[in-house]
Amino acid sequence: MIRLRSVACLALLLPAGFLNAAPGDNLLRVHFIDVGQGDAIWIQGPVGEGSDSGLNIVIDGGPDRNGKNRVPAYLAKYGLKKNSLIDYAIATHPHDDHYPGMLDILANYEVKTIIEPGLPKDGPKFQEFMDAAKAEKAQGKPSQFVQLRKQHDFQFPSFGDLRLRILHADITDLPDAGSKQNTIENNASVVIRMEYRNMSFLLMGDAEGKDRKDPDTVTHFVEEQLLKHPKADLQATVLKAAHHGSETGSTLRFLQAVQPDVVVVMSGRKSFAGTYLPDASTLARYKKVQPKVTIVRTDQDDEKQGLDTTNDQDGDDILIYTDGDSLQVHQSKPSSGGKRKWVKVRTVQKGPGE
Ligand SMILES: [Zn+2]
Repeated sequence: MIRLRSVACLALLLPAGFLNAAPGDNLLRVHFIDVGQGDAIWIQGPVGEGSDSGLNIVIDGGPDRNGKNRVPAYLAKYGLKKNSLIDYAIATHPHDDHYPGMLDILANYEVKTIIEPGLPKDGPKFQEFMDAAKAEKAQGKPSQFVQLRKQHDFQFPSFGDLRLRILHADITDLPDAGSKQNTIENNASVVIRMEYRNMSFLLMGDAEGKDRKDPDTVTHFVEEQLLKHPKADLQATVLKAAHHGSETGSTLRFLQAVQPDVVVVMSGRKSFAGTYLPDASTLARYKKVQPKVTIVRTDQDDEKQGLDTTNDQDGDDILIYTDGDSLQVHQSKPSSGGKRKWVKVRTVQKGPGE
């Protein structure tokens, strides 16, 4: 009965009401914002949880700053106005395609808690982020700044039926985090599992599973650590692919444990010595493990349109929302007159007996 009612409720909310949170709204919304080559994710919890208008969490802010950064305008467009409260801002790891845009989030919003892995990183750019995080205030009080390396025991409170857990951050004290600094920093990524009733999300940051040249049958690094968890911790409706769909992640054993219905790839048109992410081999692996998987990408058609890093943030945003039993995946796609509209690309139903 309960399930039937909530599915009906979800259907009624379409198409008019699904973008903006409304009173009595029981939807979890997860926005994957097109920032080109980089990550920026906005989680809106059901109304009634967290602060004021509901729980708001931003994970990474993309590579750009100020006018080039789409994230603050996107948040404002869909209901999180400038100077509002954000409950958590999480910088997954200290790389240029993840944390710099977070400075605009700290400047434009009152962030109550800032979380980062705590891996030491030299240089003035990251120091600017650290200084801003330490100086952040919300509602006139100093914000909480959590560096997971120093606070291994940090846990999110529960937000009604919505639960978040940090499955991993900063394994550099362990022997198998890689030898190159770039790999070590990726493997410090904050990995988050989020559950809302019968739906689950696994948000990987740039956590890796192998060296690029290794076959996909070997699993190292963070994915190896995660495979030590009970299988129920890994199985997920939605996987935010690790490391922009790079061959360095999403190993076979790991994907077999996750069994995602939907894979979100956040990537752009940045050339890495002539190759672009995601790797075709990784995309093939998602299909191999789960033939019915839906893959959605923030670089949708960017190659075909001849875009490069100056213009690949063209708005291929992805919005996934769910009442916990039914989940819909929408993508912003170009339509006539140069405008964009949200197009539904997948519905997933899960509930007792399914
Ligand atoms: Zn990255």
